[in-house]
Order: sequence, then C-alpha cells, then structure tokens
Amino acid sequence: MTRSEPYGVSDLPEPVRDRRVGPGDEFCFACHAGLECFTRCCGDVNILLTPLDVLRLARRLGLETGDFLARHTLSPITKELHLPVVLLRMQEGPGKRCPFVGETGCGVYEDRPWSCRMYPLGMGLPPARAGVEPEPVFFKCHDDFCAGAAQGQKWTVESWRASQGVPEREAAESGFREIVAHPWFIGGRQLDAKRIELFHLACYDLDRFRCFVFESSFLERFELEPDLVAALRASDEELLRFAFRWLRFALFAEPTVSVREAAKKGMES
Ligand code: SF4
Ligand code: SF4
Repeated sequence: MTRSEPYGVSDLPEPVRDRRVGPGDEFCFACHAGLECFTRCCGDVNILLTPLDVLRLARRLGLETGDFLARHTLSPITKELHLPVVLLRMQEGPGKRCPFVGETGCGVYEDRPWSCRMYPLGMGLPPARAGVEPEPVFFKCHDDFCAGAAQGQKWTVESWRASQGVPEREAAESGFREIVAHPWFIGGRQLDAKRIELFHLACYDLDRFRCFVFESSFLERFELEPDLVAALRASDEELLRFAFRWLRFALFAEPTVSVREAAKKGMES
C-alpha cells in the first residue's frame, strides 16, 4: 500500500482516477482508538517522507538527520523518478509495523509525517509544464480494513487538511515542491549523479548541509546577508528554506544566491 504517489493526473491508475476528490466534494471520515482497525494502517505501507518530515522526526528522536536516515529510511532507486525519494522503513516481521506505532497509537503523533496527516487522502502532482503552476490532485485512499472511512463527520479536502495541520507544513517546505515540479525537468531531462547527491544532502540530510554551509568555503563563495547567516545558524527550518533556495542555483543555475566576485574569478580560471 502506498498512501501518496508522485503521479501526474494523466498517470493516475484508473481505480485511483475514479477516487479523485474535487475541491467541493465531501467525504466522511472518523478515526479513533475505539475502532477495531485502530493502528492497522500503521504497517506494511509506503510512507514517503518530505524533508520536513525527516527533520522533525530526527529532532523528536534526538538524532542527527544522517543517523535518522540510516536507521529509519530507505531510498529506492527507480528509473521512473527524476529525483530520489525517501521512505520510512517499516520493521521486519509480521505486519511490517511502523517503528513508531504502539498500543496507544502513533508514538510521534505531533511530528507524524505529511502522508500520515493526509490519510485518508492521497495527493499527486502533475508533470511540470512550462509556465503552468502545478495543481495537486487529491484522491481518496481505499483500504478495506479502514472502518473510519464509512463514518463520522463530513469533510472537504480543505477542511481535512486544515484539521491535520497540513497547510502550515506545506508552507514551510513550499520550496521543495518548486524543485520537484521545476520546469527544468520538462521533456524528461535528468540531473547528473553529482546534482542528485546535492539534492539529497540539502533536502534530507540537513545536519550535513549545515556543515557544508558553515564548515567549508561556502560563505566565501556565496554572498549572504549577515542577518540571514545568523538566522541559518539559529533555526533548522530557516536552514531548510535556504537549502531549497540554494538548490535552485546548484541544480538549475537559477540566480537565487549571489556568487562573490572573487569566487566567480576562481570559477572562470
Ligand atoms: S508515523 Fe505514526 S501515524 Fe504514521 S504510520 Fe507510523 S505510527 Fe502510524
Ligand atoms: S480508522 Fe482507518 S486511519 Fe483510523 S486507525 Fe482505523 S485504519 Fe487507521
């Protein structure tokens, strides 16, 4: 089972296309500990982690991002995807349970991943098109065992997402979506291995990206405002926002950061 796939509308498999939920459509849903299915959904599932998911979960567990990635994630290599994805690693053994689920439910609830917040909705982004802002497509997940799907109050996509704190999280990592759906990829262009590594480093391994910014010649090469440098030192989420901005320079040669004159000369010589 996969909760949210990076599909475009035209690529949605037919059964999923039939379960699309438009902006005005309503659906019923109620999830609570009294249901027989409680936590059944927290096993044997592909949960895509966003950069903010990795950061928040790592901090919650008191881990460096690199340690979190090594212990709790998988990065499958697939030809279909133009950028690497990070999946939460389920435990071995019966039911392939999520490492964070317990008797009383989700043990990381306040920092649960984006796709766990979205459930029972899934979302896909259409392929990048020149001059077109990608509009997400929402669909209803379908799991026979989920009793919550047939009861409870009525929701719309907007009210459900708001109740789960999704828009705030998406706002904090809006720069990530700009990279994933960047028009540079139109026509199936592929990044080289070095740029893919930079993408993975800056998006997912923020503690290593921090070392890259503050412990290499980065600040000699790029001209950053002193206030910004102070904010990057003080806040993980500011650093993540900056990582997305810098990646547009590093991956697509967009002028999102200023290169110092001396560094430009170094690049030319
Ligand atoms: S992170 Fe929490 S909500 Fe998501 S699958 Fe694991 S236990 Fe369930
Ligand atoms: S109602 Fe659905 S989402 Fe809630 S615990 Fe049961 S299976 Fe999971």
